[in-house]
Amino acid sequence: MASALEGTPVVALCGKVWVPGRDPKKYPVCPMCKEIFESLGDKGGKGGKDGKGDKK
Ligand SMILES: [Zn+2]
Repeated sequence: MASALEGTPVVALCGKVWVPGRDPKKYPVCPMCKEIFESLGDKGGKGGKDGKGDKK
């Protein structure tokens, strides 16, 4: 049952596989992940955050 200690390994946006600990804040998002994440958010795939939707 030792495997119950760790969480489920996840694949970061940059392709890095890591296991999230109890303190996610200890693992800052790497620049690459951040860049990818922002690019994804730019497209506005899911979630409609039209707070500043001036461009329409
Ligand atoms: Zn990354």
